[in-house]
Order: sequence, then C-alpha cells, then structure tokens
Amino acid sequence: MPLQAAAQKDTGEAIREGLSKWYRLRAVTVEKTWVSYYPFLLSRGYRLRPRYNPDWIPSWTLPGNKLHASRCEDSLHIWLKDNILDAVHMADDVKVVLKLVPTNSAELRIVNLLSDESKRSDPRNRTIPILDIFLYTDAPDYTFMVMPYMRRFNYPPFHCRGEFVDAMRQFLEGLQFMHENNIAHRDIAPKNMMMEESRVVPKGSHFTNDKFHVGIGESFWWKERCSVGPVPYYYIDFGLSHHYPDGNAGALTIGRLRGFDGIPELSDTEPYNPFKVDIYQFGMSIRNLVKTYPALGMFQPLGEIMCSKCPDDRPTPDEALQYFEEIVRGLSKSQLRARMWQRGDRLIHRITRTFCGCYIAEPYEEIEY
Ligand SMILES: [Zn+2]
Repeated sequence: MPLQAAAQKDTGEAIREGLSKWYRLRAVTVEKTWVSYYPFLLSRGYRLRPRYNPDWIPSWTLPGNKLHASRCEDSLHIWLKDNILDAVHMADDVKVVLKLVPTNSAELRIVNLLSDESKRSDPRNRTIPILDIFLYTDAPDYTFMVMPYMRRFNYPPFHCRGEFVDAMRQFLEGLQFMHENNIAHRDIAPKNMMMEESRVVPKGSHFTNDKFHVGIGESFWWKERCSVGPVPYYYIDFGLSHHYPDGNAGALTIGRLRGFDGIPELSDTEPYNPFKVDIYQFGMSIRNLVKTYPALGMFQPLGEIMCSKCPDDRPTPDEALQYFEEIVRGLSKSQLRARMWQRGDRLIHRITRTFCGCYIAEPYEEIEY
C-alpha cells in the first residue's frame, strides 16, 4: 500500500476510534444521570429498565449465567438520545417513554398547547399524546413528559401501496393540523415520524434496538399493517418547533438544521419561513420512500413539488393533501393491495417475508433520509 494511502487509512481509523470512545464516554455519563433519576421516577410510578436501577448487577456476571454480555438485554445502552428513555408505568405494566425537558422550554409550551382538549379531539392531530407531565422536584428547572411507546414508522417495511397511503395521509393531515395551529415542527424526518405498533408487532419491540422484540437474539416477527389496521401514526419531538401566534404567512426564523443541508434557504443570517421548510422536509421523506420502493413512483411528483427550490413554489399542506388524494384516486383497489418490495430486497428476503412474516437474512434497508 502506498505510504500516503496507508497514512490516510490510519488517520481514518484513528478518527473512528476516537469518535467511538467519545460516544462510549458520553453514553456512560448519560446513563449515570438516568440512574440518578431512578428513585424519583419509581416514586412517581415509573420503573426504568434494570440497567438503570442503582442496585443493578450486570446479568452476565451473575453466577450460573453463561451468556456473553452481548446476549443479555441489560447490556444494551443509550447512545445519543440522552434525554429520552423508556420505562414501565407500574400501575398497568404498560411501556412508556419519558422525556426530560427544561420547564420553561418552548417544547413544553407547544406540547401543552397541542394537548388541550379542543386540539386533542381533532382527528387530524397526529402529534403524540402526552400521558403525564410532572416536575422533576430534585431540579425543578426540568420536567418529565410521559408519552406512549411508539416505533419508527418505516420499519417493518410497507407491504403495499395502501399501507403507505394510510401512513402518508395521516402525516399530511397532521402537518395540516400543526400549520393551522401556527406550529412549525422544523424537524420532520423518519426519526420523528412514529407508528403505534401493538397490532403490527404484537410481541413488542425494544426501545434501544427496535429490530428485536426484547433487544437481542430472535427473529423480528410482524403482521402486515393492512391485515391488522388501522395503525395510528404520530409526530414526536417538538424540541426545534416554534409557535407563531400571529399566523404562519409572515413567520420568519434563522438557523441551519442538522441533517437538512439540502434545503436551500436554510441560513444562519438570512431569515426564512419555517413552515415552508416543513414542507420541504416532508417532501424529502416522500422522495426517499419512493427511492426505496419503486412501486411508489406515482408519488414522486408530489415529493418533487414539495422539495421545490423556491419556497413559494411549494404547496401548502392543504394543496399537498389535495394532490396526494388525486394520485390515490388514480390507483385501483388491486394496485393499492398489491405486494411491493424494497429496491434491494433479495429472493431470500421476499421468501421469508412472505412465508415467515419476518426477515431471516439481514434485510436491505434505507433509513437514512
Ligand atoms: Zn398490504
């Protein structure tokens, strides 16, 4: 290997190693913080996983346990979502998700606004319901929000166009609802677009590793959404959201958004309309789903127009929904029900999905939108 190439390789490996070490150190710090919350949360009726119990002993070190750590659920740790963790609501043994946010944050104000009874009763309100909100009395500058456990909306893969239509209709209506209420989400991406999994994944999934039921080991088995629906879909994470009480037409903000470098108007100095950015972000999700599922090609023009370079050329949520429904009306029942595949699905994936309801081999998956 030429010296220059070898040096580049060494540098790349050193950077990767450094980053990995940094993530590990950060994860330890974050996890210790959650351990410190454990007693308080228990007193509020929420139990974190055994790993976060101050008395936790790693199960793989217990006498008689011959399993390697990687085969034990309690070895799964937090990576980057430092203020979010799953828990069990002890009164009914239901899995929930806890999020710690500053008590005076815009996020909490927006969540409260969306939770108002008049807002919650609107079926187009596809923002995640809040089950409970309580002050962290040990540090009242912070508040815990409790939400139902959800999984990412794009895995398990879609079976047919009908499933995609159902999901996108709910998300578009949800976008319409947020904008009508003068809320710009500002972080619309698959990581913040969730589905309620109980019918689709009856065995449930693990918060840290949602491609497994209990986080490790066995095949991940699911039922097709169209065979068990309806499946509710929700937006989460209002950490970047803004509420503009004066309406969205003249709303302006500044700042770049991580992961959205392709949005042309984002700037740290030039103001732009955040509602138009939501439309672009939604269009990106459609474009990437079309890329993943060639059978969704008829929705490509919708994705393209939502991603128009000029913000004024992008449709409003009303117009996008109208365009979407026009495309759907052009599809026959059999076109909606026909099984579709992801671009990279191989024969083994198709066979196991069809006959076992799961992937035996590691599936092709495009989730980085
Ligand atoms: Zn189907």
